[in-house]
Amino acid sequence: MEDFSGQTVVVSGATRGIGRAIAGAFLTQGANVIGVYAGNSQAARSFSEEFKRYSSQIDLLQCDISKEIEVTALFAMIEERYQSLDVLVNNAGIRRDAVLALMQSEDWQQVIDINLTGTYFMAKQAVLLMMQKKYGRIINITSPVAHLGFSGQSNYAASKAGQVALTKTLAKEVAKKKITVNCVSPGFIATDFINDLSKEQLATYKKMVPMRRFGTPEEVADAVLFLSGKRATYITGTVLEIDGGL
Ligand code: NAP
Repeated sequence: MEDFSGQTVVVSGATRGIGRAIAGAFLTQGANVIGVYAGNSQAARSFSEEFKRYSSQIDLLQCDISKEIEVTALFAMIEERYQSLDVLVNNAGIRRDAVLALMQSEDWQQVIDINLTGTYFMAKQAVLLMMQKKYGRIINITSPVAHLGFSGQSNYAASKAGQVALTKTLAKEVAKKKITVNCVSPGFIATDFINDLSKEQLATYKKMVPMRRFGTPEEVADAVLFLSGKRATYITGTVLEIDGGL
């Protein structure tokens, strides 16, 4: 695994699930990690406890990525404390499922605001910092539903497809500055995110996966660290699927 010592990495949704594994992997590889979370202070405390031997490399910050004013303040702080940024992982995301005919507009809007507009706010600020250094890696966590669709997830699927389109476009805009922009697309991963599904639903979904199991957050983190590394120089605008063959 590559050494990230001296690099500054921002991970959104860092204290739970996939983001926690990504942040943990960067910490063990020497990076300074700015871990962003929405408000679950219990998860933030448990993250600090789990990774206390890396405490000098951790900055945990509460920020609602769907609020531009909060994201702007977050990056002003990052610039002041770290002067530059090497990696941004846009991982924070939510789902609010309902079939479209019954979907509440608030649920449509909240999912788009956090998953897609939050990605835009964060990527915009990151690119402004990365351009100064003429180096950067941006990884956006999308989902296979972006191209497959999934009943009950029109808001979520649209937000995730939007992330892919944003990724491909931004990759073209910043390629000359040696900034790469890619997506990692996890399939079913065992986290709080799918905790609300019934045993029957989980069993059905497991059968859909050719590998007949859900993935782990660590398997997703490995892909993120690969794309964030200095060896991934010629990969940009792509989607790396970590989904057991979905
Ligand atoms: P999770 O366990 O539910 O964790 C979500 C994280 O996002 C939490 O840390 C949460 O912060 C943070 N977050 C939510 N809203 C936020 C906001 N407005 N501002 C800042 N942070 C916010 O989810 P996960 O399974 O790790 O999923 C991570 C990403 O992978 C998501 O983008 C999801 O769409 C994607 N994904 C997941 C799966 C899966 O099966 N798990 C599959 C495909 C794609 P708090 O802890 O403070 O609430």
